[in-house]
Amino acid sequence: MTFEEFDLDEVLLSAIRKQSYNKPTPIQVAAIPLMLDRKDVLAGAATGTGKTAAFVLPALQYLLDEPKHSSRHPRILILSPTRELAFQIHKVVKNLGSYGNFPSVIITGGFKLNVQIDVLTRACDILIATPGRLAKLIEEDAVTLSYVEMVIIDEADRMLDMGQGPVVRALLDAIPGDFQAGLFSATLSGKGIEQFAEDILDEPEVVQVDAPNTKSEQIQQVVYLANDKAHKDALLKNILKDASCQSAIVFCNKKEKAIEVTEWLQSQNISAQVLHGDFTQATRLDKMNKFKANKIKVLVATDVAARGLDMLKITHVINYDMPFRGDMYIHRIGRTGRAQQVGIAINLVERHDLKHLERIEYHLEQKLPIEKISGLEPTFTIKEMEKKAAKKKRPKKAPAKKPKKAKR
Ligand code: AMP
Repeated sequence: MTFEEFDLDEVLLSAIRKQSYNKPTPIQVAAIPLMLDRKDVLAGAATGTGKTAAFVLPALQYLLDEPKHSSRHPRILILSPTRELAFQIHKVVKNLGSYGNFPSVIITGGFKLNVQIDVLTRACDILIATPGRLAKLIEEDAVTLSYVEMVIIDEADRMLDMGQGPVVRALLDAIPGDFQAGLFSATLSGKGIEQFAEDILDEPEVVQVDAPNTKSEQIQQVVYLANDKAHKDALLKNILKDASCQSAIVFCNKKEKAIEVTEWLQSQNISAQVLHGDFTQATRLDKMNKFKANKIKVLVATDVAARGLDMLKITHVINYDMPFRGDMYIHRIGRTGRAQQVGIAINLVERHDLKHLERIEYHLEQKLPIEKISGLEPTFTIKEMEKKAAKKKRPKKAPAKKPKKAKR
C-alpha cells in the first residue's frame, strides 16, 4: 500500500514525501480511509505507530474538501492529555500542512492565559488543546466550539487515567452540531474507555493495530538483575557507556530519584539532564531540544515529564525503577523503536522491583529474558531473589494470645 492510493490531495502527498514517509504504517492503512469516508473511528494504537499522521492527514484533507474562509473559530478540535503530546501533534499538523494553508493554534496549560486569549483572535481552522486549559478559555469567552466539525481525542486512555474524562465530556457537549470523531487510545479494553467511546462516538469503526499488551516487534526487551543500588548504578553506567547507546531515556518513578540518578551520572562524566514535572514548559522544551540535537546523551525522566516526547533517535529506554503498571511500561518503552527503527528497552531489577516486573510480565503475557553483563553478574539467580522477596513478605507470626484468666 502506498500513500498515493489514499484519496489525498497533492498538497498533502508532497508534504508526506518531504517527511520521507515511504509507505503508510498499519494504523495509517487502517484509519485513514475510514476517516476520509467521514466515519467515526475508534483506534487502538500505541505511541510510535504513526497514529498522529493517521488522524492529521484526514483532518487536513477534510479542510481541503470543505473549503471555507478561515476565521478565529476552530473547525477541527484535537484534544491531548498533556502539553508535550499537544506540541508533538502541532508539529505534525505544521509539517504535513506545510504546502497548504491550514491555520492552527495550540493552547495548553503552563502558559499565560492573556497571551493565549490574544492568540485565539487569530485565524484558526485547527485547535490543538489540553482539556483543562480549553475549558478555562471557553469560560473566558476567548474561544467557542460552536463551529467544530471534527474532533480527535488522542491518548484517551491516558486522559481517563488523569481524570480528564468529565472535562472532555463537557467540552464535547458544548459542540452544538454533528461532528465526525476519532478516538485514539493505546488500549481499547477496560470499562472506562469502552463507556467513553460509546458516549462520544457514533457507530464507530474499530481498528486496532497493535494489541495493547503485546510488545512492539521493533523493541528488544531485557532484564538485568541487580544485587543492590550500587550494582544497579554500575549496570546503568556500563549500558550508557556502551558504543551502541547513542541516546537514552532513563525512567525513575519519583522526581527525587531522577535528580539523584542524574547527579550520579554527571559525576561519572556522562552527559545527562533531568526532566521532571516541576520545570517550566520553556525549560522542558529547551532540554528536549538539546536532547534531540544530541547535545545531551541521556535524559533522566519521570513519567509525567516524558509523555508525548517524539524522539526518533532514542536507542535505549532504561527503567531504573520499574513502572507500577503494564500500560505505563508500554508507554515508556514506546519511546524507542519508533516507526521503522529498532530500539532496546532495559529493565534494571532489584529485589524490591520484582513485584512490578511480575505485574508487567503478566500484562505483556510473556516473560522478559534475563541477561548478564560480564563482570557485573548478580550474585544470585532470579529464583533466589524471588525466594528472598517472598520470605520478606511473609507476615510475622501473630503474638500468642494471653491466656484468659480463669473465672473463679
Ligand atoms: P507517532 O506514533 O504518531 O508518535 O509517530 C511515531 C514516529 O513515526 C514519528 O516520528 C513520525 O514522524 C513517524 N512516522 C509516522 N508515519 C510514518 C510513516 N508512514 N513512515 C515513517 N515514519 C512515520
